[in-house]
Amino acid sequence: MKSLSKGAAALLLIAAIIGIIAARFVIAPRTDAQMNAVKRAAPYEISKPAQALHDSLRVADLHADTLLWARNPENRYDYGQTDFPRLREGGVRLQVFSAVTKSPRGLNFDRNDGTGPDDVTRLVMAQLWPARTWNSIYERAAFQAQRLQKLERAGQGNFIIARTAADLKAAIDNPEILIGILETEGAHPLEGKIENIARLYDEGYRMMGLQHFFDNELGGSMHGVTKSGLTDFGKDAVAEMVRQGIILDMAHASEKSVRDVLALTDKPLVLSHGGVRSACPRTKNRNLPDDILLEMARRKSLIGIGYFEGVICDISPNGIADALVYAVNLLGEDVVALGSDFDGTVTTSLDTSELAAITQALLDRNMEPRVIRKVMGENAIAFFLGALPQ
Ligand SMILES: [Zn+2]
Repeated sequence: MKSLSKGAAALLLIAAIIGIIAARFVIAPRTDAQMNAVKRAAPYEISKPAQALHDSLRVADLHADTLLWARNPENRYDYGQTDFPRLREGGVRLQVFSAVTKSPRGLNFDRNDGTGPDDVTRLVMAQLWPARTWNSIYERAAFQAQRLQKLERAGQGNFIIARTAADLKAAIDNPEILIGILETEGAHPLEGKIENIARLYDEGYRMMGLQHFFDNELGGSMHGVTKSGLTDFGKDAVAEMVRQGIILDMAHASEKSVRDVLALTDKPLVLSHGGVRSACPRTKNRNLPDDILLEMARRKSLIGIGYFEGVICDISPNGIADALVYAVNLLGEDVVALGSDFDGTVTTSLDTSELAAITQALLDRNMEPRVIRKVMGENAIAFFLGALPQ
């Protein structure tokens, strides 16, 4: 083959550089803004009593995928749904940061094949993540934990990652400190190896979902092909997670997988960003049935209600409040929590700076301030104080 002339090679190089810059600084932010959109009906009016109550809350949220995107969470953005300045404005003290590592193209709630093209691969390349993340799911999880660790170092005590109950206890009474907890969205970062649980623990992960949108080595997803339960590897992995003190998140797991977990352990569990099927039956393959949620509640688990279409039928602040009231009536006031799924490629009616609109809507529904306090954060704080490694 004839080699390229020097001029043609230079042109190709320039085109490649322009392509890389466009992908990182134009296409990636545009994708972020489109995928994590906020559609407000109108500015939300917050009454003085609602604002006063909200300002006195310690808000906690069980799920945000912020680490997947190229935004620097230390800065305030006018797109996406969560960053540190907006978390502080919304009164959030504790935020679970989840690591998304693989996402089948054509995502839907009913049936996704994990063997096809993966959108996260394109995204990490467009965002110029290190090459080690391009074809390793494990490395994508490790990298996202390292991003949060870097923010912890830069935060000089104003942002900490809670790795133990003592970390959380020491920070939660200081309103200046924002607290993060790390979780993997699905356990495919294990790449089928039990020993990767310990490696991810060392990176700071304290909670793990079992599946995301597709069936993986551990078993069936709610949105996968088989809808099956846990595999033998999945059962071994769950036992090992329990042994190492990792909190189990049932979000996205198939009904059979959740029932298998309930049979394997009597530990309290988490549903980080879900919904109650009897409250919003429209999307069967997203929400859990009452009997599973009641069993989770009986063992003092934590049930996080999402803010997006599919888990709740009305995504307005009023709709979120209705879903929270329904869950409290069904499951009791001690287990229900916020599970936004901010930055999780969902459209929401508010970003995290606007959470007072939920407090307002709960007051409008005559939820007692004492119960609002629990749902908005205290249930989650109490749960993690008990469930994080002591
Ligand atoms: Zn999710």
